[in-house]
Amino acid sequence: MQSEDPILICGFALGVLEGPSIPAPRYTARMTDRALTILKETFGHGAFRGAQRAIIDTLVAGRDCIVLMPTGGGKSLCYQVPSLLREGVGIVVSPLIALMQDQVVALRELGVRAACLNSTLSPAEQRAVYTALANGALDLLYVAPERILQDDTLERLTQIRVALIAIDEAHCVSQWGHDFRADYLGLHRLRERFPGVPWIALTATADARTREEIAARLELDAPQWFISSFDRPNIRYTVEVKSDPRRQLRRFLDDFRGQAGIVYCMSRAKVEETAAWLVDEGYTALPYHAGLTAELREAHQSRFQREDGVIVVATIAFGMGIDKPDVRFVAHLDLPKSIEAYYQETGRAGRDGEPAQAWMIYGLQDVVRLRQMVDESPADEQRKRLERHKLDALLGWCEMTECRRRALLAYFGDALEAPCGNCDNCLHPPLTWDATEAARQLLSCVYRTGQRFGAAHVVDVLLGKATEKVRQYRHDTLSTFGLGAERSVEQWRSVIRQCVVRGLLRADVERYGALTLTEASRPLLRGETTLWLREDPAAAVRRAKRATPAASAPSSLLWEALRACRKRLADEHGVPPYVIFHDATLVAMAAARPSSADDLLSLPGVGQAKLARYGDAFLQVLREAG
Ligand code: ADP
Ligand code: ZN
Repeated sequence: MQSEDPILICGFALGVLEGPSIPAPRYTARMTDRALTILKETFGHGAFRGAQRAIIDTLVAGRDCIVLMPTGGGKSLCYQVPSLLREGVGIVVSPLIALMQDQVVALRELGVRAACLNSTLSPAEQRAVYTALANGALDLLYVAPERILQDDTLERLTQIRVALIAIDEAHCVSQWGHDFRADYLGLHRLRERFPGVPWIALTATADARTREEIAARLELDAPQWFISSFDRPNIRYTVEVKSDPRRQLRRFLDDFRGQAGIVYCMSRAKVEETAAWLVDEGYTALPYHAGLTAELREAHQSRFQREDGVIVVATIAFGMGIDKPDVRFVAHLDLPKSIEAYYQETGRAGRDGEPAQAWMIYGLQDVVRLRQMVDESPADEQRKRLERHKLDALLGWCEMTECRRRALLAYFGDALEAPCGNCDNCLHPPLTWDATEAARQLLSCVYRTGQRFGAAHVVDVLLGKATEKVRQYRHDTLSTFGLGAERSVEQWRSVIRQCVVRGLLRADVERYGALTLTEASRPLLRGETTLWLREDPAAAVRRAKRATPAASAPSSLLWEALRACRKRLADEHGVPPYVIFHDATLVAMAAARPSSADDLLSLPGVGQAKLARYGDAFLQVLREAG
């Protein structure tokens, strides 16, 4: 139940291993033993996960690395530990100021001498950081990319000893990616300023093109690649067809009372409405989007981090800087832009390795709207082609009937041997049906009504409903009128959606969603091909089994007392509760009921600094609980 290495490693080299020969450092063995000591004493973890140790050894030996690891995989330790092992200061370039600050706070709690340099510092604070740097009083320095490239920053940094340079969120160098940051393109200039200093580039975005761009643009020196499996086995993926979004969301959230999560919506207005509605439903829900003032955004983000059980309703802007380990669900009320974006957004759930859910609803409207957004974007044709391709991959993923995790991983170049058993399709295998005849009826109805009408009217004609509009256009005289009366509205809508996703029909946004035929629909109309479609299950049947996270399961008095103690300490120290101890540590504490400092130290997540700071308070709670 503790985060016992769920991460599979297939660390392999991609033919770029022949770097200049680096003399094998004689101190490596001793250093890595020290690595384990630091892991235990400072970070309170019992063992390295996956490739962490190999990465640390590589950096300590002075060699560049590229690390591809999913969110929650444990990237930070890969540069934090070597920064403590190597002489000098570890410099971490990070684009996310909020995240940077959280990391610094968490590190200081662990007794690590960390600071950051970014635009939020006052001149006095900045001077203090420079003084600490010059006095050798820092182990780690987090710097914003635009900041590190400034002459005065460089000037100061070149006067000190640098242990390593870590480039976090390294995919920001990719102009094709969704997080491109122009400053990242200048980072390679640091190479000549800090000769002989090993670099580590880290990202959770893994498509092949981005990988190569990272190595090339940062001008890494024959880097060693570490590619972890992108699987997040603790996250359950579920996709439902949108029918009644609020009812569907309410049902989904029923399993998560008192737990933290993120609900993503496409527009600001919808974010606001949804958050207000959730508050009416008795949840603590806060909106987050680019239209709010910076102060309000920060306040909401900070409540999300610090309070238990807050739901943030956000446009996709939210979450970049979120390092909260106990996010139990991510719900999408609208489709994200691509599989990469989806994976990144859902990856914010369950970083602590405990069960979490990624849930999404989507419908024909989403398909139409997203296609329109791509078509209308100011990007050039090449870029639009790429975006269309990415959107189609996502839509195909939504409609698929086999294991979703396997497909996700395959998209990132990872193979999963067997179906996962923890996605909706594995848990409730969907049925498929021969929709050839139905699709032909639909296509010919679209054709006969003149390819000028949207889904609602076409369905009315198929069902044989003599609405006013049907009579007005005399569509009740068509041969397709009432041809599909034996199917329900939902079934027809499902066929239409799937035909649009497969490119058999186009929904013309310019003309209010009018359905038109495409080249691809000809063979089907002529009876040359067959078509099998997914049967949309009634949403209620699809209710996934309750996935109560183990970490929050204990509801004993002791558990509540431990949580209360953590919250009190967190407030006193001005940090989020999980910075004091993760849920997993409290769970272990409630189970093992340690009575001495030594016993406490053997629990996951308890290191020397935290023992010294909080040990007594928790031991007292444990004693009082008898
Ligand atoms: P990433 O940056 O890859 O998203 P983090 O570095 O934030 O991941 O780590 C994710 C979580 O895993 C953190 O809560 C961290 O404390 C935990 N973690 C990392 N390494 C280990 C380890 N070796 N043993 C136990 N927990 C770990
Ligand atoms: Zn599966």
